[in-house]
Amino acid sequence: MTAVAKDIQSNLAQIKDSLPEHVTLVAVSKTHPVDAIEAAYATGQRIFGENKVQDMVAKYETMAKDIQWHLIGHLQTNKVKYIAPFVSMIHAVDSEKLLAEINKRAKANDRVIDVLLQMHIAQESTKFGMNDDELNQLLEVISNYENVRVRGLMGMATFTDDESQVAQEFQSLKVRFDAVQAKGLASLTQFDTLSMGMSGDYSIAIAEGSTMVRVGSSIFGQRHYG
Ligand SMILES: *Cc1c(COP(=O)(O)O)cnc(C)c1O
Repeated sequence: MTAVAKDIQSNLAQIKDSLPEHVTLVAVSKTHPVDAIEAAYATGQRIFGENKVQDMVAKYETMAKDIQWHLIGHLQTNKVKYIAPFVSMIHAVDSEKLLAEINKRAKANDRVIDVLLQMHIAQESTKFGMNDDELNQLLEVISNYENVRVRGLMGMATFTDDESQVAQEFQSLKVRFDAVQAKGLASLTQFDTLSMGMSGDYSIAIAEGSTMVRVGSSIFGQRHYG
């Protein structure tokens, strides 16, 4: 085994040990090669996150079919068709247009696709996601889309060293999550997932109620774009 593979496996073991049992780990493998994912897979990890459709499709095609692929980044409607046959969860739904397209493509593949609704909780204006009004509008129409199952909410905190701000932002997402759950909508048959927390802030996210963390660089090392 290569030194890189060993590092990945020990990073993964350490992180898994630190996660409470109710928290699911999405190993964010974006930009990393198949070899790196295979090192993680060998330890039993089965959930991997990618943010580019093309990369996810390429990895899906070459890798073991029991991997659950999560699309974690912004998704363009014209690309949904490429992942609809196999994607396990789509984390960043923030419009009815996207929801409708996922529904259409899920139906064409005779599937029900799990999705999360992305909320805007950070101060940065560059991050995607909905506000409360947009969320409520979307919740009113989800019963029209029988081939998507809205499993919960997702959000990204501001990129800052100010831990209290990060905690506050995650807390605000948890409050919204609880509020939606409390509505008890018939169309939300399994609303149980709160996806928040990345390498730099997953401990804070878990303390604030996260049930799913998306961790990349702490497992696989720094990403090299190019
Ligand atoms: C890249 C990415 C992550 C993982 O980031 P790390 O800081 O490497 O853990 C998590 N969530 C989303 C949406 C991402 O794009």
